[in-house]
Amino acid sequence: MQENFTDNNNESKENLGVYISTYGCQMNVNDTDRMYSLLEMVNFNPVSRPEDADLIIINSCSVREKPVHKVHSEVGRYKNLKKSNSKLRIGVGGCVGQQEKKNLLSDVPLLDFVFGTDAIDELPDIVEKIYRNDQKIVRARFEHQKPYQIQTLNRNPGISTFVNITKGCDNFCTFCVVPFTRGRERSRSLNELVKDVNSLVQRGVKEVTLLGQNVNSYKSECGAHFSKLLEVLAQDTDIERIRYTTSHPKDFDQELCDVMARNREKICEYIHLPVQSGNSEVLARMNRGYSRKEYLDKVLMIKNFVPGVSLSTDIIVGFPGETEEQFEDTLSLLEEVEYETLFAFKYSPRPFTKAAKFEDQLSEQQKSERLNQLFAKHDEIAFPLAKKYEGQILKVLVEKHNLETGKVNGRSTQNKLVHFSGGSDLIGKTVSVEITEAFPQTLRGKRVEL
Ligand code: SF4
Repeated sequence: MQENFTDNNNESKENLGVYISTYGCQMNVNDTDRMYSLLEMVNFNPVSRPEDADLIIINSCSVREKPVHKVHSEVGRYKNLKKSNSKLRIGVGGCVGQQEKKNLLSDVPLLDFVFGTDAIDELPDIVEKIYRNDQKIVRARFEHQKPYQIQTLNRNPGISTFVNITKGCDNFCTFCVVPFTRGRERSRSLNELVKDVNSLVQRGVKEVTLLGQNVNSYKSECGAHFSKLLEVLAQDTDIERIRYTTSHPKDFDQELCDVMARNREKICEYIHLPVQSGNSEVLARMNRGYSRKEYLDKVLMIKNFVPGVSLSTDIIVGFPGETEEQFEDTLSLLEEVEYETLFAFKYSPRPFTKAAKFEDQLSEQQKSERLNQLFAKHDEIAFPLAKKYEGQILKVLVEKHNLETGKVNGRSTQNKLVHFSGGSDLIGKTVSVEITEAFPQTLRGKRVEL
C-alpha cells in the first residue's frame, strides 16, 4: 500500500512527519506502534518533536482524571504550530476519541479528526481524506460483528514484543471504562496468531507477550480457548519465550495451569493476576466474579502447578463504600499471596461506569492514606521476596548493553530485571546468571556456564 497524498492543489506530499503522543496502558503503547507502521506505509516518517510534524495524533486515555481537559490543553499547545505550518493536521485517537466522538471536534476547533479504538486500521484512509478534501472526519463506531483481523505491525520488534490476541472486554467491572472505550470482546484467529508469531521469529523476535484486556477469555472462531492457543504457540512455533497479560482470576483454570506446567521451557512463570481488593463484599460491588477465598484457591492452584511462579497484581484502594476493615483485608491479602510486584491506584470515577454513581464515595485524603499504607506494606514484603533469588541461577534473555558500564541487562523468566557484566554480542541470547545481590526492583548477578 504505497500512496502519496495530494492536497486540493494536487501538490505532492511525500515524506511528511508524524508525531504521536501516547497516554495510558500497554494497549495504547502498542496501538501507537501500529499507527506509526500504518502511516509509514503511506509515506509518513515518525519524528520525535511535534515541531517537526505535519501530522500530530494524540493517542488518548480515559483512565486519568479530566481526560478531555488534557486533550484540550495538549491541542492548545499546538496552536502556534498550526499557524506556522499550513499542512499540519491534528487528530485524537484512543479511548477519549472513542468516548467523545464528534463532541471533541466541536469542543476543540483546532482538531481535524477523531478516530476510535476500532478505527486504527482506517488511519491511512482517514488521513488521506483529511489532506485530499480538507474536511473534518469522525470515525468512532464499534465494529462488534467484524472479525478481529490484524497483523502485528511493529516497526522494530526487537528481542521482545507484544502481540494483541483479544480486544475489548465483556465483564463490566463496575469501576472500569474499557467495555465502553474498547467495545465487546473479540479474539484473533488461532491460525493467524501462529503465522504472526512465526513471522516475528523470522524477524529476530525471541519473546512475545500475548496482550489483551482479558487474555484468558480468548476464544478463536475454531473454538480454541486460551490454554490451547498457548500450547499451540509453545509447540508449533520457534518462539523462545511466551508471556501474557492480563489474565482475569475468574477465567484462570486448571487447564491453563496444566499447559504452563507442560511447557515450562517456553511459557514464563510470571503471572499478572489483578485482584483489585482483598474483601469479598468489595469484590462483589466491583462485579469481579470471585470472592477472596476463590481468588486464594486459584493462587494456591497456580503455586502448586507452576513452582517458583512470580505473581503481580493490580489493586484499587478507596472503592466507594470501602471501610477500614475491608481495606485491611486487602493489606492481609498482600502478605498471604506474596506478590512480588504491585500496581496500585486510588479509585477514581470513570464516565459511564456504575461505580461512578455509587453514593458512598471516599475523600481524596482517605484514598491517599490507604494508597500510602498499601505501598508501605508491599515494601515490607517485596524485599525479602527478592532476596530469595540470591544464589539462584536464572535464565536471562539479554535485551540491552550499556557501553559506559560494560554491563548488559535482560529479564528472567520470572520477569525480574537482571544486570550483569557482558558485551553487546549477548543481545538476543538467553544465558544463565547466578544472582549475587537482590534489590527491591532489580537483581545483580554474574554469568555462569552450565
Ligand atoms: S477491569 Fe478488566 S475485566 Fe473488568 S471490565 Fe475492565 S478490562 Fe474488563
